[in-house]
Amino acid sequence: METKDLKVDLLCLGARVSGVHKGRKAGAGPAAGGMFIFRNTVTNVPTQSWFVSLSPYTVDLENGRYIIKRDGERVTEVRFPAAKFQELKTKDGIPYHKIALLHGRNCVATTTIQTCVYWNTPKRCKFCAIELSLRSGATIAKKKPEQLAEVALAAKKLDHVTHVTLTTGTTATPDKGINHLAETARAIKEATGLPIHAQFEPPEELSMIDILYDSVDTVGIHVESFDRGVLNEVAPCKAEIPFQQFVEAWKRGVKIFGENQVSSYLIAGMGESDESIVEGSRMLAELGVYPFIVPLRPIPDSDMGNEKPPSPDRMRHLYEAVAKILHSTGISWMKNKAGCVRCMACSALSVFE
Ligand code: SF4
Repeated sequence: METKDLKVDLLCLGARVSGVHKGRKAGAGPAAGGMFIFRNTVTNVPTQSWFVSLSPYTVDLENGRYIIKRDGERVTEVRFPAAKFQELKTKDGIPYHKIALLHGRNCVATTTIQTCVYWNTPKRCKFCAIELSLRSGATIAKKKPEQLAEVALAAKKLDHVTHVTLTTGTTATPDKGINHLAETARAIKEATGLPIHAQFEPPEELSMIDILYDSVDTVGIHVESFDRGVLNEVAPCKAEIPFQQFVEAWKRGVKIFGENQVSSYLIAGMGESDESIVEGSRMLAELGVYPFIVPLRPIPDSDMGNEKPPSPDRMRHLYEAVAKILHSTGISWMKNKAGCVRCMACSALSVFE
């Protein structure tokens, strides 16, 4: 089985695992999955959602090695990263794993502000689980710059992480959380020198993005879907933001950080057409923005927890179509300095490029 086909299958169908850590249960981004490293790629595989019980994929331990099997047939060996830094505690006794986690193979990632102004409103994004991990005590509400600098430095020394992903819940202030992203990024950069990625909602005042210039290397400004009807249904808070505000923020980001250093998540499987994803990706790539296409990840206890991800065949079709667009526009994950596009655990687009 080709690696790209296995990666797409696992992203959409998940794998039944026992005896290995199943990964973070909730939180921002594609949670409820474990990091599977096989054949020189890493994949954030669903391990805890309802549909995983239907998956033909299992992970079995054989002679001390973990093997991915499909319907009992051996596919390939797999290993799971175990981050040493996550075993440590801060001076004031906070476990490092409540401050940041290893994502992918070599990325230290965190949600700097674990609360969102839309969370307790009907406007919240239905695919998101940002405050569920806070409620379960798996993380803390607001990470201090000095805490993140300490943890990122330990992750660099002990686990050889090579880049950083910072995301945030949207705040009620005009900067939408960008000020705290800049403060934490500055502290991490000073302590580690690592390349840093920051994700945020497009601010009304574009100059807010400029303050990230000296501490961040890449940014993520996620439109999630180009289908405004779908967006209105699944993420009313994002649908309320004029589309042109996203466009201006992407352009500002490319002007500051360069082509390939700005990205947007595009979630497939929320009712949108293939065309909206393919043509939306074309528009992004022509702006110099990387379309980070991921299958919907129904996270347990989130508003879309009972949904089903799109089929692997549909995702393969989307990845093949968009990879052609990336070739024609010179946009590539390989040119990205930090974050999800460099990590690629949650998307298979890189293996189709
Ligand atoms: S792609 Fe992004 S969200 Fe996914 S594991 Fe990597 S850093 Fe985390």
